Amino acid sequence: MHILTFDIEDWWIYDFYKVGDKRDYLPRLNKYLNDILDVLDEKEFQATFFCLGIIAREFPEIIKLIDNRGHQIACHSDIHAFLQDKDPEFFYQDTKNAIDSLEQVIGKKVIAYRAPAFSFTEKNKWTFEILYELGIEQDCSIYPAHRSFGGFSSFKEDKPVLIQYNNAIIKEFPMSLTSIAGKEIAYSGGGYFRLLPYSFIKKTMQKNDYVITYFHLRDFDYIQKRVDWKRYIQSYYGLKGAYNKFLCLLNDFMFINLKQASETINWNCVSSYKL
Ligand SMILES: [Zn+2]
Repeated sequence: MHILTFDIEDWWIYDFYKVGDKRDYLPRLNKYLNDILDVLDEKEFQATFFCLGIIAREFPEIIKLIDNRGHQIACHSDIHAFLQDKDPEFFYQDTKNAIDSLEQVIGKKVIAYRAPAFSFTEKNKWTFEILYELGIEQDCSIYPAHRSFGGFSSFKEDKPVLIQYNNAIIKEFPMSLTSIAGKEIAYSGGGYFRLLPYSFIKKTMQKNDYVITYFHLRDFDYIQKRVDWKRYIQSYYGLKGAYNKFLCLLNDFMFINLKQASETINWNCVSSYKL
């Protein structure tokens, strides 16, 4: 099972890119989105797009376009605030605002969520109760290792499970990781996808029955303006070849979206994971 997902956001939402200006980025969001939607049509693949509420309000045509092309619209928070130091009130309101904004644009229920920067941790498990309360059924927020802005290193599953936390039950699709030199990394998206050779990514995917990807449009945007040289490796390394790598991936593997994956799984036979 290979699940194709994208996060629809741009650099200007990050606090550490204060030097950026959103006017530099949004026209590019449109360009790369169209390229990707066309190639997904050719391949007849459906993907899940985790979108920010703020994008739904400022650029509803982007969300409508993705929805009209047959892909799943999911929630990636409202303003991309990292959650490791936020309280339940903030999380409830941010998630509700995002879901309301997205649903208003597409006229359908939003039932899937991914936290900004995978910022769910052992300290904010209460997020699952709030997601459940807000009608979220599928979650992709758990990164089962330590990482800069979160990570859930005590989570030991590498395949979909049913998370139980108090009364909440959520279908969890944890991020796919692999070990390099003793460090667990997400090879199927973001910076490491740009950094690692395609042959390594392909071999690792072939070895795993379950792989979930996470791409951003900026991962493919070689001529984007560089706004922060301090984070050059994380942000810009490997941009030039990344779109070709992505096309190779689409040629070498079959992809489905989260909704299709969820329908394929017999959840009665899936183990429960009590947080
Ligand atoms: Zn994000």
